Amino acid sequence: MLQISQLKLKIDHTEKDLYKLAAKTLKIPEQEIKKLVITRKSIDARKEDIFYVYQVEAEVSEEEKKAARLKSPNVTIAKKSAYQFKSSGEARLAARPVIAGFGPAGLFCGLMLARFGYCPVILERGEEVDKRVETVESFWNGGMLNLESNVQFGEGGAGTFSDGKLNTLIKDQSGRNHFVLQILAEHGAPEEIRYLNKPHIGTDKLRNVVKAIREEIIALGGEVRFNTCLTDIITEQGEVTGIELNHKEILACEVLVLALGHSARDTFKMLYEKSMKLTPKSFAIGLRMEHPQELISRNQYGSRYEKLPPADYKLTHNAANNRGIYSFCMCPGGFVVNASSEEGRIAVNGMSNHARNEKNANSALIVTVTPADFPKSEIENYPLAGVEFQRIWEAKAYAAGKGSVPVQLYGDFKRSRTSTGFGKMMPNLKGGYQLSNLRDCLPDYVSSALIDGIEAFEHKITGFSDEEAILSGVETRTSSPLRMERNEFFESSIKGIYPCGEGAGYAGGITSAAVDGIKVFEAIASKFKNPIFTG
Ligand code: FAD
Repeated sequence: MLQISQLKLKIDHTEKDLYKLAAKTLKIPEQEIKKLVITRKSIDARKEDIFYVYQVEAEVSEEEKKAARLKSPNVTIAKKSAYQFKSSGEARLAARPVIAGFGPAGLFCGLMLARFGYCPVILERGEEVDKRVETVESFWNGGMLNLESNVQFGEGGAGTFSDGKLNTLIKDQSGRNHFVLQILAEHGAPEEIRYLNKPHIGTDKLRNVVKAIREEIIALGGEVRFNTCLTDIITEQGEVTGIELNHKEILACEVLVLALGHSARDTFKMLYEKSMKLTPKSFAIGLRMEHPQELISRNQYGSRYEKLPPADYKLTHNAANNRGIYSFCMCPGGFVVNASSEEGRIAVNGMSNHARNEKNANSALIVTVTPADFPKSEIENYPLAGVEFQRIWEAKAYAAGKGSVPVQLYGDFKRSRTSTGFGKMMPNLKGGYQLSNLRDCLPDYVSSALIDGIEAFEHKITGFSDEEAILSGVETRTSSPLRMERNEFFESSIKGIYPCGEGAGYAGGITSAAVDGIKVFEAIASKFKNPIFTG
């Protein structure tokens, strides 16, 4: 195949136009192209004229000759870089490997172990996805919070109720990133995620993808146990030998993958008490801000915005108090969601359907906090200090919102006064809300950095600092507040335990958590023989 880059077409082009342009670039008649596959598609909106920019692979005769004759940096022989792995382990496992957590990290680690014949046992404290959706909807409609099955916990992990953005900043030479997208597409995600430069699935489609991956794991001999929480670990001479489930059942265990996510605070505490090496780490906290989607799209694309998908943004600023503030997890055409997982505490996040067709755009605006900001402890470098910090501000949000999500107009946030009503827009929020003063739910240095940032962002997006834009809070679950140390073989300070994904501090987002799941699988398969439990 020949790879052709930088094919620019106007926004209202047809598929035929793409064939034509590819043929023109190759200086051959269109009929000579036997097959054309899109490998990348992005929008170039830097100038008044907006373009789609494509990279494609074309099957033609005498490819090498043609590429050599054209001498263009935009026409090259396509490289085959599909992800491959051969298990090489020699050690014998006496029990099936266990994974705690069925978010992206656990899903991908589990799928790979299953594909290579290791028949993993996967424990998930929350419910399977259909039941979880009912439980979460009921909570958003005024029902009780289920402490084990909520927006953070349950099949598919934290990303199930999300925008399902799949772009990641991690570079992976071995093709794991692309492999993750391929697996998601094979299990029902839209094909376009394989080539869009900012792919996203949407919560509506993601739920079925997660189910399809679970079905493959089970078909390959794996086991997925819902409503099953890892509550303790049993160790002998620094090695894991067993685990406790739901405070009652004991399972022999030699390999335990901890893919717990960033909100498994009780499990973090248990691991700390078992002397596993954990260290506190920086993360970020702030608020979620809503604007009309039309305002964002008009700013990004101009008058032709209606012909393009809802626009997103990415903004950063250094505040006067030297704190970094940035937009995070932006959801075009989406909802703000009550993403709480503990009684008496409120945390928010964002989610969209695949169509991203809601009226409001929302994004977290967050400020970096470091262990120096966390509550002081008698224990030096106390690993759970970041969790305590999160809990303080989540409890204040609960109090400010009288149990619902506290919301406020930006103008009132600036003046530190409780809002009394809405202006030109309404919140698009899953879960109840209460007009409040969000300044009561954040440290002053975070509030002032946020105001600095929002005023600065006005220079990038006109209308961003509109006093009637809506804020809600608090956004505290942006990444893990701690890291579980692991060595070059991916093992923790307790032998046989493999920290994995976002909760362990090695990923930030769906794709990077999935990639880390694959890396942990590779570490296990490089050590232990394959297959061992089939038949
Ligand atoms: P998680 O997905 O958190 O999964 C951990 C799992 O472990 C959970 O299901 C939990 O129930 C389970 N668990 C915890 N403790 C135990 C235990 N003791 N025993 C058994 N099971 C346990 N990222 C993106 O890239 N794009 C987005 O658009 C996006 N939007 C988001 C929207 C929302 C509302 C939220 C909450 C997050 C969003 N994220 C997004 C972040 C993304 O979801 C996480 O980065 C990702 O899910 C981390 O994957 P993980 O597998 O490491 O952990």
